[in-house]
Amino acid sequence: MSAQVLDGKAIAADIRERIRSQVDDLRAKGRRVPGLVVVLVGQNPASQVYVRNKRKACEQVGFHSELMVLPAETSQQDLLALIDELNARADVDGILVQLPLPGQIDEDAVTERILATKDVDGFHPYNIGRLVLRRPVLRPCTPKGVMTMLARTGIDLVGKDAVIIGQSNIVGRPMFLELLMARCTVTVCHSKTKDLPSKVRCADIIVAAVGVPRFVQADWVKPGAIVIDVGINRLDDGTLCGDADTAAVAEVAGWITPVPGGVGPMTVATLLENTLLAAELHAAGSG
Ligand code: NAP
Repeated sequence: MSAQVLDGKAIAADIRERIRSQVDDLRAKGRRVPGLVVVLVGQNPASQVYVRNKRKACEQVGFHSELMVLPAETSQQDLLALIDELNARADVDGILVQLPLPGQIDEDAVTERILATKDVDGFHPYNIGRLVLRRPVLRPCTPKGVMTMLARTGIDLVGKDAVIIGQSNIVGRPMFLELLMARCTVTVCHSKTKDLPSKVRCADIIVAAVGVPRFVQADWVKPGAIVIDVGINRLDDGTLCGDADTAAVAEVAGWITPVPGGVGPMTVATLLENTLLAAELHAAGSG
């Protein structure tokens, strides 16, 4: 393998350590520690794992965290009423409603009901709008986590050609805004893109957020490129793999993120950063 590995697990541990010491300082000054409430509706097994990881991370840094598990048949009205209660609570800085939600609930209505200053997922239209305007506040966790990883390469991103595969609201689109804000020239590809390999071959930075196991092939990758693999795909044998054919791509790329242990831990670490920022906003009275 020639590529250097961008170790998300290690970078996330550094971030947690930094946040833990900031929380210790708050405690020492007699100030309130940041509080995150995670709401899970139903029993989706993948969501249960994500929620467990987020709560564990909160405990590691000394945040106050609560998990609220609601039955799968919860109505939209009841969920919105719970969000109203959490919006009003002074000890709650961040509210995270784990997606996906059961079919009877409109995810957009839920996202928009959370106060923008408590929207630690960064999905509220206000927070997306601030990112569009290059004045971000709470930024979507996965793309922001990717930017933190890119910074760790020490490579100047200005003027680099970036190709994102995937245009979802939670990854591809905010990733486009982040890379554009970093002064990259960004191409966003999706399922209707013509001749995808030829577009990927031009990229200095490739971000794969497709949800198709081992989709990105080694011969699509420009030698030395940075390959960020956002995908988390569970194979029939229970193992996880990303959206890139990692072993083969690593022979060509300059940098690569592993799956697991790459972007996944960075998403959780960024959620902690956002919760701390939300607590600072509330303490400053801008919440
Ligand atoms: P999504 O909403 O399903 O979006 C997938 C995107 O990939 C869509 O834009 C789709 O295009 C595009 N696509 C699908 N097949 C394609 C093809 N053959 N060629 C080109 N583009 C294609 O998925 P997502 O929520 O963004 O998640 C993507 C992956 O990232 C999943 O594996 C997910 O589990 C993972 N993920 C990881 C993290 C993390 O923390 N590591 C966080 C979020 C998601 P169209 O728009 O044209 O349909």
